[in-house]
Amino acid sequence: MSISGKPPYDPENIFARILRGEIPCKRVHEDGHALAFHDIAPQAPVHVLVIPKGEWCSAADFHAGAEAEEVAGFWRAVALVARQLGLEETGYRVLSNMGPDAGQEVGHFHVHIFGGRRLGRMVP
Ligand code: 5GP
Repeated sequence: MSISGKPPYDPENIFARILRGEIPCKRVHEDGHALAFHDIAPQAPVHVLVIPKGEWCSAADFHAGAEAEEVAGFWRAVALVARQLGLEETGYRVLSNMGPDAGQEVGHFHVHIFGGRRLGRMVP
């Protein structure tokens, strides 16, 4: 769902198709709230995407519109995945691109988990 405006949620976006099993992914974790899988073009030794199961376009839409249980379940899954990947000790980065200026390519809310090496400073 898009709360923040346009365009509306496109059910044919690539992550919606992954959720429906129409496109394969290298799955890391799945539960009632979230699916996690390896990014197809990793930017770090570990680069995993976590997506909610609901149809939310962006971080803004998800946090404004989703039920509290869905939001909590999603973020618990993010933490669980990072732990499962062995990143908790060394640290990791969680990032979400929101909208065109941030370069969001896929119109289904997702967060990136980066880790597996010392990450550079974040710069705009
Ligand atoms: P965004 O720029 O929207 O935050 O990030 C989208 C991410 O999705 C990119 O890092 C891109 O490599 C990844 N991606 C795009 N298409 C696919 C795909 O078909 N499978 C997987 N696993 N990742 C994808």
